[in-house]
Amino acid sequence: MKGNSNNVKKKSSLSISKKTVIISVLAFCMLTAIIVCGYVFAYMSSVVNGDMVIDLNDYKANQSQTSIIYAYDEDGQIYEMQRLHGTENRIYVSLDEIPKHLQDAFIALEDARFPKHKGVDWIRFIAVFVKDQLSTGGSTITQQLVKNLTDERDATFVRKFKEICYALNLEKHFDKDEILEAYLNTLYLGEGCYGVKTACEVYFGKDVTQINLAEAACIASITKAPYKYDPLINPEDNEERREEKCLTAMLEEGYIDQALYDEAVAHEIIFTNSENYVPDKKKEEEKATGTSDIWSFYTDYIVDCLYDQFMNEYDMTERQATQKIYYGGLKIYAAVDPEIQEIVEDVYYNRKTFPNESGKDVKAQSAITIMDYSGRVVAICGEAGEKTRNRGLNRASDSPRQPGSSIKPLSVYAPAVEEGILTWSTLYLDKAFAYQGKQWPKNYTGDKGTGASVTVQNALARSLNTVPARIAYYDLGLKKSYQYLTERFMISTANPQADVAPAPLATGAMNVGITTLEMAAAYAVFGNGGVYHEPFCYYKVTNSDGSTVYFDNTTNNGVQSISAETADIMCELLQTVTTSSVGTGTRYKVSGFQTMAKTGTTSDDYDRWFVGGTPYYVAAVWYGYDLNKTVSNVSGNPSGKLFAEIMNRAHKGLPDKSFPKSSLTTEKKYCTKTGLLAGENCSSTATGWYSVKNLPKTCTSCKGTPHKSDKDDGGILEEITNVIDSLGGLLPIN
Ligand SMILES: [Zn+2]
Repeated sequence: MKGNSNNVKKKSSLSISKKTVIISVLAFCMLTAIIVCGYVFAYMSSVVNGDMVIDLNDYKANQSQTSIIYAYDEDGQIYEMQRLHGTENRIYVSLDEIPKHLQDAFIALEDARFPKHKGVDWIRFIAVFVKDQLSTGGSTITQQLVKNLTDERDATFVRKFKEICYALNLEKHFDKDEILEAYLNTLYLGEGCYGVKTACEVYFGKDVTQINLAEAACIASITKAPYKYDPLINPEDNEERREEKCLTAMLEEGYIDQALYDEAVAHEIIFTNSENYVPDKKKEEEKATGTSDIWSFYTDYIVDCLYDQFMNEYDMTERQATQKIYYGGLKIYAAVDPEIQEIVEDVYYNRKTFPNESGKDVKAQSAITIMDYSGRVVAICGEAGEKTRNRGLNRASDSPRQPGSSIKPLSVYAPAVEEGILTWSTLYLDKAFAYQGKQWPKNYTGDKGTGASVTVQNALARSLNTVPARIAYYDLGLKKSYQYLTERFMISTANPQADVAPAPLATGAMNVGITTLEMAAAYAVFGNGGVYHEPFCYYKVTNSDGSTVYFDNTTNNGVQSISAETADIMCELLQTVTTSSVGTGTRYKVSGFQTMAKTGTTSDDYDRWFVGGTPYYVAAVWYGYDLNKTVSNVSGNPSGKLFAEIMNRAHKGLPDKSFPKSSLTTEKKYCTKTGLLAGENCSSTATGWYSVKNLPKTCTSCKGTPHKSDKDDGGILEEITNVIDSLGGLLPIN
């Protein structure tokens, strides 16, 4: 009994302790569960009701986006010229640009209760959860957006939980339209397209605003599995999903009626890879330039300038600049004149008007820059022949070449006029002088001058070397000449050691040379009253919504580089190059327009230049070989021919226009014998342009007085120790 009772006791105490343990464990579990749930709910509540976790505005401003270069057509209408993008092709569009039926297609197919739920569709979520815990199904549009924005895709409870919290939070801070807009701009739709805009372009060759119901359903059907439902690759799969799922859902949800449904199902979608696809001409042009692998030289130049500016003005590394340019969603408003750029490319890419070099291994090259008088680069090209790569060598902006005589207006004539040293009709001896032990320089024709007195105008029009050499050396001074070249005309490639010498400054035998870009900008000063404008190739560069302006050239007012009178006089002098019977540029005048110009040739005929301008545009053209080689088998000046061909085409149909003229510039008769203003007894006269502040005296004798530099004075030359002899063979002669 005792034992029994003991047993019973034991049994009962055992069962009591067993119960206790079970109850304790259960209690512990419950407590833990309550605590965990408490924490979870507390966390959830704090996230859901807390501060904004994902800022859609911030995202919109900073997401990786395609940059777009815009240009203006002849009517001033803006259009897309080129897109710059990395691997993601992404362009943001606002919801009002997205057709309603495209929005509806996504809602019906992906998240029918989107307009009603608060971020999570619990009914659908639980139903799907029971069936397949971690399936992607059951996610609302808001949840999908969170996933796209956070880029967290691993299939864990924690990730899913966070996604739900973030989705609920998002709905507290943004309305349905904002969420839908962000969603339609971020989802991946195959073929490298993010967002509906680029997808519509890639699949249908259409803008998103133009797509019909069937196409909308086609786009919406891609998102579930972008490769499987890619309509270009798997058209049947896409068709099945868009008809049986998407359009059916739209019908069931009441977005469309039976008639629209039937019409959409019957509609044959024309894809960009369909046989009967007829590309919209304008769209195709945009596509040709927009997605072409080979950019125009103008785009090359824009990208180069963007790198320069971001790295210099924003202290970016090259890598950061690359990120900004290709992924920054920049809007770049190009200053290009598309028609002139097209003319230039037609002539250059097809080598039109180029000397015939068929059969030759190494063909001559050329570069051109055309600007207006506000600093705007309207066209640029740095290569002749087919363009085969992007951002290769751009000779127009990156290859300084010896300018020959085209330097004289910048380094000799304009500075001397500005300094009051000479006028249009000042007489100089056309005669070489003793320099470093020999008679220097030779003229283009090979002679050392006739010894006759010639006016400044005559010397410039004929491109004599003797006269500017005398002016620079005796009257202006080399330092001053160099100063004007580099500080007034902003030539950046001059060398302060090697180029402060008579041969570089008077005849253009520079150490390195000048680019067509800087040459055009410098000559523009003569056509706009003496103002220098730094060249620019975009008016403005902003971020995607325009809220940040990175660069703005619309307020480029320029700098008064020389007086308006000097500019006018230079402009008139340079016009005689194309109008006077002895001018070197008479064959290249732009038909119907005043044309100022200057030719340039370097010794051994390595480089041929033609720089000229009309009241509309100024252009600098270089022609030669990449590695110095004599330009042969050409008649006339190949650069002059290119100038005339391109500028004549560019000026077709333009209204009359004249160069500006300052009230301080005046036209006067002068005596050709003395170079003084014509007096009563002067028998031989001509007209020239003068500054009213620097008028010559009136001729009273017709005998004139010799100019001080007319004396052959070798005595003061010894201080110049430049090794001109070693340069002897390189001296430019035109
Ligand atoms: Zn006289």
